[in-house]
Amino acid sequence: TARKHSTRVVVIGLGRFGGALARELVTHGSEVLAIDSNPHIVQQYSDLLTHVAVADTTDTTALEQLGVPDFPHAVVSIGSNMEASILTTSLLADYRIPKIWAKATSRQHGQILERVGAHHVVLPEHDMGERVAHLVTGRMIDYIEFDTDYAMAKTTAPRSAVGATLTGSGLRKHFDITVVAIKHRGGEFTYATPDSVVAEGDQLIVSGRIEEVERFSDLT
Ligand code: ADP
Repeated sequence: TARKHSTRVVVIGLGRFGGALARELVTHGSEVLAIDSNPHIVQQYSDLLTHVAVADTTDTTALEQLGVPDFPHAVVSIGSNMEASILTTSLLADYRIPKIWAKATSRQHGQILERVGAHHVVLPEHDMGERVAHLVTGRMIDYIEFDTDYAMAKTTAPRSAVGATLTGSGLRKHFDITVVAIKHRGGEFTYATPDSVVAEGDQLIVSGRIEEVERFSDLT
């Protein structure tokens, strides 16, 4: 569903991360200006994105010619060229762009990006590694953490929960987790209610403190 008011976003660096991000933004109705210093990469994206440009974003003249200082949102997804990533981010901060997101390749890189003015730093490889660690063992199918203590997971229902209503199986009481949604085989996720009955092979979305979500997902 496209949003009523299209958001304008400048995406700098069209590697795997920036490229996927720019395409997703366009799919969801944002107006995207995508910039990369590599003409071959820009060429590849010229059919997929409406506004593309070849420019070195460490060059203020180039940024100003492209109207970058007037964008409300910017994403710096230059990865391996750390100097360019840091310098570009600091220039965007000088322009007082209200929302600057930047991709970092390490924690230290992320700390520098925050120091030079990024409002949000993402560490995709690091974060995905942590996330997959939760999925490799146990029944978790998907996992996301919020802050340092809270998590949500998609998991297959443990045998001990099968056949009872959510109230009856006492999951909240015994495990201190909340079942948010249930999906029966071949169905779709729907909100869980106290009367929802868990069947074998159901998938659950549960939320709670990290330790509790992990403990629940380790049950057989
Ligand atoms: P990913 O891991 O997401 O593929 P990369 O670091 O490989 O990220 O890609 C970053 C992109 O940023 C590359 O396409 C590269 O050409 C581009 N880039 C690097 N330096 C600059 C710069 N100074 N100005 C604009 N784009 C740049």
